[in-house]
Amino acid sequence: MVKRKKSNIGDKTHFETKAVHAGVKPESVTGAVMTPIFASSTFAHSSPGNHKGYEYSRTQNPTRKALEESLAELENGSKAFAFASGVAAQSAILETLKPGDHVIAFDDLYGGTFRLFNEIKAKSANIEFTFTDLNKNFSKLIKKNTKMIWIETPTNPLLKITDLKRIARIAKKKKILTVCDNTFATPYNQRPLDFGIDVVNHSTTKYINGHSDVIGGCLVIGKNKSLEKKLSLIQNSVGAVPSPFDCFLTLRGIKTLALRMKKHNENGLKVARFLKTVKKISNVTYPGIQGHKQRDIAQKQMNGYGGMITFLYDGTLSEIAKFMKKLKIFTIAESLGGVESLIESPALMTHAYSNDKEFNQVPKNLVRLSIGIENAEDLINDLKKAFKR
Ligand SMILES: *Cc1c(COP(=O)(O)O)cnc(C)c1O
Repeated sequence: MVKRKKSNIGDKTHFETKAVHAGVKPESVTGAVMTPIFASSTFAHSSPGNHKGYEYSRTQNPTRKALEESLAELENGSKAFAFASGVAAQSAILETLKPGDHVIAFDDLYGGTFRLFNEIKAKSANIEFTFTDLNKNFSKLIKKNTKMIWIETPTNPLLKITDLKRIARIAKKKKILTVCDNTFATPYNQRPLDFGIDVVNHSTTKYINGHSDVIGGCLVIGKNKSLEKKLSLIQNSVGAVPSPFDCFLTLRGIKTLALRMKKHNENGLKVARFLKTVKKISNVTYPGIQGHKQRDIAQKQMNGYGGMITFLYDGTLSEIAKFMKKLKIFTIAESLGGVESLIESPALMTHAYSNDKEFNQVPKNLVRLSIGIENAEDLINDLKKAFKR
């Protein structure tokens, strides 16, 4: 477990309570119960250099501060940094590295993370990346210049899972920083800092905001003064900060995170079990059902398995497109983690223009579902009809 600072609502409060209250206090001037949208770029000094902790909104903003305190508590961390997108947060943690440093990364990652690594950081910052299956013995890949291990679990889109405790233990011995993209799990289902991971990354665009109306990201760390200083400097100097309005919407989304995740977990399990009975498809992948390759690890480190499911459709890409178009409740769209159910084909959509060899392990006939919080029976009936015709 990482060291963390004391919570303002008590250290023993449950996740549901934290989701509603963490970081949020009645506003001091008016008593407004909901954190206002502090739409001000700058803040008054009573005399030069004398201010109330806020100077300029790139550096610090009260709405963003409330969001950051909430995110830190949800992940059992000490400090969170909010960014304008998930990839902006990823870029910021990579900026703590120096040219020539080496990163070992899981071989199934969000496509945009691969792009950031290979197209931007490898070229402009001369960071070296090695992609590998972290479930195998990767110790032999650790070199003198290895400074970071990059984890995503469950991964997008193959839903691979890796053992956070094991990787943290290996990394700690060699003083290597560990980063976990926790977007698919959310802190409701998995809290990587509790297993010794150093940095948690989210695309808050997904489950954390949960309403498909904001692009955002964050980093959360445990008690680590030097890393906190570095990330404050990067957040302020590079300036990829979210607007007060987006922070407000994300905070609003967080209040129902526990409720939503409970329903995503229930619906995910029901739909995955149904999909197992469908003849036209195979390889139904969901960490909550029998047959998932790393199910034992999932059970050890997760409290639930969320709403992401993949399967292989027995047909051509045009047949897959036809099947998807028959659905009435599922929307054909990229992204995930919102209240509404979505369906996508990586080959036709998110990964369609990519020639990167890392993507080759994503089968052409893979279909990905993001199960929302609708009635599970309605979702199953929608799928049943589309499979039939
Ligand atoms: C969407 C996503 C990201 C990128 O986040 P943005 O908010 O789109 O920049 C990173 N990791 C995972 C797992 C994602 O699903």
